[in-house]
Amino acid sequence: MKQFDYVRPATVAEAVAAAAQPGAVYLAAGTNLLDLMKGGASRPDRLVDLTHLDGLDGIETLADGSVRIGALVSNADLAHDAEFAKSYPAVAEALLSGASAQLRNAATVGGNLLQRTRCAYFYDTASRCNKRETGSGCDARGGENRTHAVLGWSESCIATHPSDFCVPLVALDAVVEIEGKSGRREIALDDLHRLPGDTPGRESALEAGDLVVAVRLPPAASGFAAHARYLKVRERTSYAFAVAAAAAALRIENGKISEARLALGGVAAKPWRARAAEDVLRGAAPTADAFQEAAWRALTDAKPSGDNAFKIELARRIVVRALTLAAAGTPARLPALPASPFASTSGAIHA
Ligand SMILES: Cc1cc2nc3c(=O)[nH]c(=O)nc-3n(C[C@H](O)[C@H](O)[C@H](O)COP(=O)(O)OP(=O)(O)OC[C@H]3O[C@@H](n4cnc5c(N)ncnc54)[C@H](O)[C@@H]3O)c2cc1C
Ligand code: SF4
Repeated sequence: MKQFDYVRPATVAEAVAAAAQPGAVYLAAGTNLLDLMKGGASRPDRLVDLTHLDGLDGIETLADGSVRIGALVSNADLAHDAEFAKSYPAVAEALLSGASAQLRNAATVGGNLLQRTRCAYFYDTASRCNKRETGSGCDARGGENRTHAVLGWSESCIATHPSDFCVPLVALDAVVEIEGKSGRREIALDDLHRLPGDTPGRESALEAGDLVVAVRLPPAASGFAAHARYLKVRERTSYAFAVAAAAAALRIENGKISEARLALGGVAAKPWRARAAEDVLRGAAPTADAFQEAAWRALTDAKPSGDNAFKIELARRIVVRALTLAAAGTPARLPALPASPFASTSGAIHA
């Protein structure tokens, strides 16, 4: 492993100052970053350890009813916070479907948002990868690419973003609070992750030294609690990244969908908000026909980037099924194996 500096600041201001030098990166629980460093895919000059910062590990309800989650809250602590899970069940379900219990105990909110792609060629330094080294090529094109993107990909890069957590967050209009060298600012989560274009190495809207300090869900997000689900299809239920996933959140009044939120995971370089599908659902009755129409709309622009045409049909079915489960009502208790279609007690496995 390449030699690097290690600093452990005590305040956010010290952390941002310590990360100002080129080649510095933040270290949270390290469950992603350290793996990348060990394999040589990430070669930072300095690690700025966030774990001793005060004030970033709280979950608080603000005066306007929004909830603010500190960047150092662990994925497990957030998912198991009873108030949080009651108000944002699809977010809790997504968190519990991610990784293993041990990893969730360590992994942080900020690290989950900013974890890197799981494209195997990105991890393998013997492979060509435009994300690791601009202009070097992409061995995933023409390689093992059945889990790669079907939406928003470019000729430069076909990798997907691996986070489960981000999918319901983007559906619920989450906002990210950032501290940088010019002070505090915030951006919509939908604007945090970038599509690859010609510069797949630039994965987010963050500038050098920007620290994510919190994620906020707006007051309206809890209005979907009665009809919200996260559905993830993966190759093994114990733990695995999503082949495709969907977060569906509905408000149903007088037999009609008054408001709908839908986002897909595992299909693009960012959590994919399906706004055109939401438009189909708004005002419609919660019927199989409406859900099918929404699913077609959500995948209209999808195209295979390799051996992954199956993902388009899979994603359509997941959308229909997530909407069907959401319309049926959020269960009082999350399924024993969260987000597994095989753990569900209602509906057929294939929509
Ligand atoms: C075997 C395995 C299975 C997994 N399965 C899943 C899965 O199914 N679903 C899923 O969603 N995830 C999965 N993960 C990924 C896991 O959730 C991430 O590794 C974890 O969320 C990263 O959090 P961390 O705190 O360890 O981040 P780190 O590894 O410390 O950091 C990750 C990245 O985020 C940056 N960073 C961290 N915090 C901040 C901050 N506050 N501000 C700015 N930058 C920051 C770091 O610089 C680094 O680039 C899996 C991981 C493993 C190892
Ligand atoms: S898909 Fe993207 S991350 Fe994977 S090898 Fe190609 S350029 Fe690299």
